[in-house]
Amino acid sequence: MDHSEAVSERKYYIGEHSITARRIESGLHIVSTPIGNLQDITIRALETLASCDLIACEDTRVTGVLLQRYGIRTQMMTYHEHNAVKQRPRILEVLEQGKAVALVSDAGTPLISDPGFRLVGDVVEEGHKVIPIPGASAMLSGLVGAGLPSDTILFAGFLPNKTHGRKKRLEELKDIPATLVIYESPHRVGASLADMQEILGNRAAVVARELTKRFETFHRGTLKELSDFFSGDRPKGEIVILVSPPEEQNATEIDADSMLLEALKEMPVSAAAKKVSKATGVDRKTIYTRATELKHAGDDESTEDEEK
Ligand code: SAM
Repeated sequence: MDHSEAVSERKYYIGEHSITARRIESGLHIVSTPIGNLQDITIRALETLASCDLIACEDTRVTGVLLQRYGIRTQMMTYHEHNAVKQRPRILEVLEQGKAVALVSDAGTPLISDPGFRLVGDVVEEGHKVIPIPGASAMLSGLVGAGLPSDTILFAGFLPNKTHGRKKRLEELKDIPATLVIYESPHRVGASLADMQEILGNRAAVVARELTKRFETFHRGTLKELSDFFSGDRPKGEIVILVSPPEEQNATEIDADSMLLEALKEMPVSAAAKKVSKATGVDRKTIYTRATELKHAGDDESTEDEEK
């Protein structure tokens, strides 16, 4: 609805109801905004946006849609990765005057794969208050809808765009005993899932699409199934990928690894595999595959050492 005539300072509107926001304290308010559904905003966020002196946002057009919806007319300025260095001192100046500034991003929680952490660091350093106003974030909505273990998670943000860098990053994440939560752009999702399958193994995973929006979908399956599904030219939308933790190694596998590492110092892969298979009772093919992996990992490390 159009609130342009009725709007006044510190007011916001829910439907026809006009509400005067409470006054808020000076400081930088980190305000979460919706990730699709404009109703996903808290009362505290609306009060803060209506009551603060300035809203620092990535794009005034995007934030403008939200403000228009709730009849808020607070002044906006842009703060994004390309002008952050220039804008930070301006925001600090406003805080210095004892005013309240709200930081928002285009969607979700600022600083979560979005600008803001340097600003917060500077604000803390200058002795001003930082006040988080929690709300939507795609990583949490994806996690709670995925049905994967949620007791330990690792939020990895965006992976590198190119395959080489992406695989390197996935190698770092591979052994972490946590559900991985990853943001991905729609046109890279197929390639990214394929790299995940190659490096992480064929784990259970979920692709959460268009969260909170009309076509919200959770695609569940193994990384192989998902990578096949998303490899074509499918309509994709905004995406969070969640990957289950690595299977826990059992005691036999751990024993086998340490025995293999010892054996590989003295003999070739096939002889090491034969010896350790006999000692542990694990079948020879499995042990041979593992021995090859350990051998390659060892070779890679020694090449890196030589390069240093
Ligand atoms: N700060 C935001 C947050 O708290 O979620 C994330 C911003 S990041 C620049 C944008 C990425 O978040 C998208 O590429 C996508 O991976 C994920 N994302 C944002 N909105 C989403 C949605 N509605 N559904 C699924 N993923 C979403």
